[in-house]
This record gives sequence, structure tokens and C-alpha cells, in this order.
Amino acid sequence: EQVISQIAAGEVVERPASVVKELVENALDAGATFVQIEVGAGGQRFIRVSDDGIGIPADEVKIAVMRHATSKLRTADDLSRIETLGFRGEALSSIAAVSRLLITTRHRDETMGMRIRLEGGQVLEASAVGAPAGTVVTVENLFFNMPARKKFLKSENTEKRLINQIVMNYAMAYPHVRFVLVHDGREIFRSPGSGQLADVVVKVFGLSQFKQMVEVDGEEIIRGRGGRIVVRGFVSEPDLNRKDRSRVILFVNGRAVQDNSLAYAVTQAYHTLLPKGRYPHAVLVISVPPDFVDVNVHPTKAEIRFEDANIAFSAVQRAVREVILGYAR
Ligand code: ADP
Ligand code: MG
Repeated sequence: EQVISQIAAGEVVERPASVVKELVENALDAGATFVQIEVGAGGQRFIRVSDDGIGIPADEVKIAVMRHATSKLRTADDLSRIETLGFRGEALSSIAAVSRLLITTRHRDETMGMRIRLEGGQVLEASAVGAPAGTVVTVENLFFNMPARKKFLKSENTEKRLINQIVMNYAMAYPHVRFVLVHDGREIFRSPGSGQLADVVVKVFGLSQFKQMVEVDGEEIIRGRGGRIVVRGFVSEPDLNRKDRSRVILFVNGRAVQDNSLAYAVTQAYHTLLPKGRYPHAVLVISVPPDFVDVNVHPTKAEIRFEDANIAFSAVQRAVREVILGYAR
């Protein structure tokens, strides 16, 4: 049983950055308006994510750390229209299996909170405690019982970079949420939680880069099906004097996704307007009907599949092209 859960854990928890991703997703699913991420030594010392979300009811905390325990799906049918970031019920149990885990939580409607301590998936302690509403999850000794995994961890700096990217991505996807990221006691990123994507893009890309971006605001009805595709965000001006690599950040229904086809749709939209050797920067927040996209393709949920990939492609291309053409005129 312990071996099985370690294998399962390996798929979800590849590295410290994946722990950060899963914990932040849980905080967002809990409706947090404030999420603080503290990391020690790129996650090799500790990772702590605190949120002011709804919290876990005291009598559900032990269940939450069990394999395939999710409070987010009730029927198999729900799987075809997922509106939360998590749904597989694998993250907490996977993290618990390969670390020392401490959860302190209080559900908004309960007077007492709960503190639970696990090591290698075994509950060592569970007790009622006073706590503010919300949840604090601390992960220490990651991969202590997986020496091979621990050995192949990349450098502290690589991990920090990945963690920064994940946090900044979620800050852009959830502009109404205040994010704070702290590495080794030093605050390195903070988003204002104003609800305006522009405010977060300024923080992530810097003001001078932001000033060279134009706003995308496209919306179309999905023909022959109903529902809408909304494409909002910012893309770089076509005549940017910049030679660095393309940086296309895409969110679909609140999830950062890796989708080469959609990224290509962005580049395509510039067509001949972008000088050779120049690449666009873009942050696009795309929303589609939940049943138009399958997010249950891979355990890390970074890959998605559209019901009709061409429709998604053209919607993105059109939305970007519209502002790029406007710019060229
Ligand atoms: P999933 O997110 O796929 O449901 P997880 O293993 O990540 O699975 O979490 C298991 C359950 O624990 C969640 O369904 C949720 O009920 C609860 N949970 C985890 N983290 C939080 C949090 N920060 N706030 C409130 N509930 C949480
Ligand atoms: Mg989760």
C-alpha cells in the first residue's frame, strides 16, 4: 500500500514546484482572497501555503488526506464540466505520502480548527486547535523516503524560478486574489488583488514591458453549439524592439495550460506584421463553457483538450489579430 501510494504520488508530485501548484490550486478552489506562499531553499527545506478560504470541516480533515478523496466532484457527470482546479483528490494524499505534512485549518462555520500531522502518509497527530478561518499547509522533508527522486532534483534556483512562474501565473489568472510569495524569508512577489489583470501583468512583466502591450478583448459565440469563447488579456505590440524568446502565457478557465496550438494561434495572428526573429509576448485569459474542454487528460492537468480545437484556435487568432491590425492601421 505504501509503495503504491508512493508511485501514485510520483505522478502528481514530481518536484517542489508541483507541490506549490497543487497547494495554490486548493487555496483557490477554497475561495481564498489571500494566498501566501513561503518557500525555504527552493522547497527542499519547506513549503508553506496559507489561505483565507473556506477551510476544511474538522471531521473531514483526515478524509482529505486520503487517496482519491475530493469534495469537488459528486457524480461522474461532474467530470464533464469541471469548474474547480482540483478534482482528482490526489494532491494532498500524494504530498503526504512523500513528506512530513502539517495542516492547520478551520472551516468558516466552525468555532474550532483542526491540526493534523503526517509523515510518509501516516497520521501522527490530530487535535482540535484554535485557528483563523482558512488553511495552512506546511510540507517539510519532501521526498525523504524517495532517495532517487531527491537525488534528481534540479538546483535550488531552477526550482525557485519554476515556483515564481507558477505563482505569477495564478496571480494573473486570479487578479482579484492577493498573492504573496516569500523565498527564504524575503518577499519577492506580491499581487494587489485589485481584480484588474493589467495590475498583475505590470507586476509580472514590469511597467516598461507592459507599456508596449495592447489589450485583447474578444468574445464570440461558438457556432452550432452555443456558449461563448472569451479571449481577454495583453499582447506585445508587433514592432517591439525585442529579440528574446516568445513568452506566451495562456489560461483556460482559470488554469495555466501548455497548448502549442493555441500559442501558435497567437504567433499566427501577427502574421507578417512581426519582423523576422521577433516573437510576441502574450497573456491571454480564455474562458469557454466547462463542457467544451476536457481537463482530465494528465495528472498535472496542464494539458487540455477542446471539444473542437479549430474553434478555439480561430477564436484566439481572431481576438489577437483584431488588436494587432488595429495597431498597424
Ligand atoms: P482535489 O483538490 O482534487 O479535491 P486534494 O488532494 O488536492 O484533491 O484535496 C483534497 C480535499 O481536501 C479537497 O477536495 C478539499 O475538500 C480539501 N482541501 C484541500 N486543501 C484545501 C484548502 N486549502 N482549503 C479548503 N479545503 C481544502
Ligand atoms: Mg487539489
